[in-house]
Amino acid sequence: MAGPALILRSEVAETFRQIERLFMKRTGKCPKCGSTEILADAKAIDRGDGNWQADFTVATFGKPEALIFKEKHTGTVSAWVCAQCGFTEFYADSPGSLRSPTP
Ligand SMILES: [Zn+2]
Repeated sequence: MAGPALILRSEVAETFRQIERLFMKRTGKCPKCGSTEILADAKAIDRGDGNWQADFTVATFGKPEALIFKEKHTGTVSAWVCAQCGFTEFYADSPGSLRSPTP
């Protein structure tokens, strides 16, 4: 008799494979239209007053409730863009730097 743990493990592996297929960065394939024409690592540009440009960034706050020292962590973001349908995925360039240092 096959152990249920064995079945479970293969189901988990299949679930991971399905999740991986959803990431353009990993697969080089658009999860929306199936195109493999992916523009990788495009730089996301932010625009502000007077049309100034800056790298698009994301920020996290270690202490969002603080008045002044909120422990802001910022990082730049890159984009994976499908050249067929325009679907775009954003990834932080160094996600680890957005984490608050653990005490
Ligand atoms: Zn697409």
